[in-house]
Amino acid sequence: MTTTEHLPDLFALSEIRGPVLRPGDDGYAEEAAGFNLAALHTPDVIVGATGVDDVVTALRWASATGTPVAVQATGHGANFPIEHGLLISTARMTDVAVDPRRRTATIAAGAKWRHVVDAAAPHGLAPLTGTSTDAGAVGYVVGGGLPLLGRTYGYAADLVRSFQVVTPDGTLHEADAEHETELFWALRGGKGNVGVVTSLVTELIPLRALLGGGLYCHAEHAEPLLSAWAAWTLSVPEEMCSACGMLRLPPIPQLPEPLRGGFWARVALAWTGDPAEGERLLEPLRAAAPVAVDLVEVMPYTDVDRISMEPQDPLPARESCSLLRALPPEAMRAFLGQVGPGVRDCPLLAAQLRHMGGALSRPAATEDAICARDAEYLLEAVAVLAAPPDAESVERATTALHTAMSPYGTGRTMVNIHGTPGDASDRARAWTPETYTRLRQAKSHYDPTNLLRFGHTVPLASTEEMTRPAGAQS
Ligand SMILES: Cc1cc2nc3c(=O)[nH]c(=O)nc-3n(C[C@H](O)[C@H](O)[C@H](O)COP(=O)(O)OP(=O)(O)OC[C@H]3O[C@@H](n4cnc5c(N)ncnc54)[C@H](O)[C@@H]3O)c2cc1C
Repeated sequence: MTTTEHLPDLFALSEIRGPVLRPGDDGYAEEAAGFNLAALHTPDVIVGATGVDDVVTALRWASATGTPVAVQATGHGANFPIEHGLLISTARMTDVAVDPRRRTATIAAGAKWRHVVDAAAPHGLAPLTGTSTDAGAVGYVVGGGLPLLGRTYGYAADLVRSFQVVTPDGTLHEADAEHETELFWALRGGKGNVGVVTSLVTELIPLRALLGGGLYCHAEHAEPLLSAWAAWTLSVPEEMCSACGMLRLPPIPQLPEPLRGGFWARVALAWTGDPAEGERLLEPLRAAAPVAVDLVEVMPYTDVDRISMEPQDPLPARESCSLLRALPPEAMRAFLGQVGPGVRDCPLLAAQLRHMGGALSRPAATEDAICARDAEYLLEAVAVLAAPPDAESVERATTALHTAMSPYGTGRTMVNIHGTPGDASDRARAWTPETYTRLRQAKSHYDPTNLLRFGHTVPLASTEEMTRPAGAQS
């Protein structure tokens, strides 16, 4: 294992324009910390990359010295500790260039969705963000990117036209549907397994405003609201994107007064069609249970964070997810049995069911590594690990929820929202066996010494696996 003392030839990193930080240096702890404070990163060295050249130099050095490499933009995905090795921090690389004529954005590795939303909005355009614009665009896209508007427009990775990426040997590549096609495939859903993306070009959608927000009922009305939502999802058009679940909100000033400290059943939604038609579609939900706080309104896309109201400040979080193939009444009973109003000591801040299907179920124009297209719903849970409640009770509640819902599951998870990466078989659940084998083959080709080994990564393929087609049985 690499240790600080044995880090060879740090001198080679002196070409780097950004800061090169070692434990004890001023700024090291701040640079290492991510949005998710659950994991404490303690790399041997951090390169604060300022551009492509810094990433190339850092990776050449890592390759020459056999130093393991991690990459971090915002640390929203900091679900695992980066111990030892090199951390490439892309947080300084935040350039976004919008081409309104082509309706595209070129997004540098460290840009948050907020940067892209604000750059695109003056042109009447929007990117396919997730539930929080504070997340990094590139880290989200390489995990497929499940957008708030996914049922209408598909996965964020479906709109990517090209990547600029540095493979672990320090080589810069341009990957698109016609060049470096295996890299292009692996970078759309395969997460950070094959290289460090320095920028990507994505299409934007023409969208200025939408009807969106949350319908909040007091928790005792969860059963009628959530059951009505499950039935409603079977018939709503693809322009209706929604999620429902239970929220145990803390009494913090960042939340609007009527919601603060409350225990809520909520439907959160986004509708991109005619607002009057959207309001009409919502009638069965508003009639199902008394709505205590109705925050559904027409809003500019720049306000999209108001729909899900994700935490905006760094916190130690435990997230988890599983994909579901259906949500029959007994599944909703199982969900409420774990997190509903009858469970008073549940430590989960939020447990939510997202409606999938629509454009999310159709294949991308160019084949990719996303393996969630067969899911009709996505179950996700998040807890804050600050005591109390303690980490053990969070872990017990998380496991119990996903176990109770497993009869309705596809057996898979979504890599972006999976949370703490477990052993290789746990991580493999993000892909079908065929895609998993192909991803391992791609990793073995581009990262043959397994430098990119932190987090949700796959093992190298064996020699025998390299010679057989992906998915073929031995
Ligand atoms: C509040 C919140 C809401 C979220 N909502 C959604 C959602 O709606 N839909 C969804 O799909 N996901 C969602 N996520 C998950 C999010 O997409 C992932 O955490 C994603 O990794 C965030 O990227 P980041 O760069 O901000 O994270 P980081 O922690 O900086 O990076 C996480 C991982 O992304 C990869 N990565 C980052 N940068 C690069 C790079 N330059 N090259 C190659 N790989 C890279 C690496 O594997 C890295 O370990 C949410 C997360 C949070 C905390």
